[in-house]
Amino acid sequence: MEIVLATGNLHKKEELSEILQGHTILLPSDLNSSFDCVENGETYLDNALIKAGALYKVVKRPVIADDSGISVPALGGAPGVYSARYGSLNGKELDSSERNAFLLKNMEGIDERMAFFVCSMVLMLDEYRVYTVQETFSGEIAHEPFGGGGFGYDPLFYLEKYGKTVAQLPADLKNTISHRGKAGASIKSIMDRLDSL
Ligand code: IMP
Repeated sequence: MEIVLATGNLHKKEELSEILQGHTILLPSDLNSSFDCVENGETYLDNALIKAGALYKVVKRPVIADDSGISVPALGGAPGVYSARYGSLNGKELDSSERNAFLLKNMEGIDERMAFFVCSMVLMLDEYRVYTVQETFSGEIAHEPFGGGGFGYDPLFYLEKYGKTVAQLPADLKNTISHRGKAGASIKSIMDRLDSL
């Protein structure tokens, strides 16, 4: 299938192109298109549906949208749906490493470092045919960033099983075990089935 991804984030495009192998992932900009929406949902699923609907309205062909973030129970679930904007004040956006430093500062003195990523993914074929999946990925917040791979909070997301942060893992391993990888695998099986009909 040829599918348009509701994001401008090139990292997400790369990850999803790997995860949805056999299908062609386009960005709105590949179609000289753009879409606009306000991600004001209260849940990841709300936001993924908002993005999918906004992009579908513009391109009128199958789209995928995802909304994701990281939750730290010791911080009351923060940053959660606000992960991309965490720590941004008065319109001043932090970059990824500043955002990670902000999270580390908020974790100072906290021993309970369990955290999990969430990814809601929506495949919208048209207004009436919509598939949704939501997946998680559990780990711990490290005491300092490690690794140069991945994006966002990956350098802080420590996996005891591997003795590494996600930013230190090969991309194909991340894509097998991550929230986006697992949600994408379910969406891929739907796309494979639709392709074979
Ligand atoms: P959105 O899904 O584009 O609204 O943004 C989610 C935000 O959550 C990203 O900007 C990242 O900061 C964070 N995030 C989501 N998935 C990942 C991941 O796989 N690794 C690291 N950070 C992530």
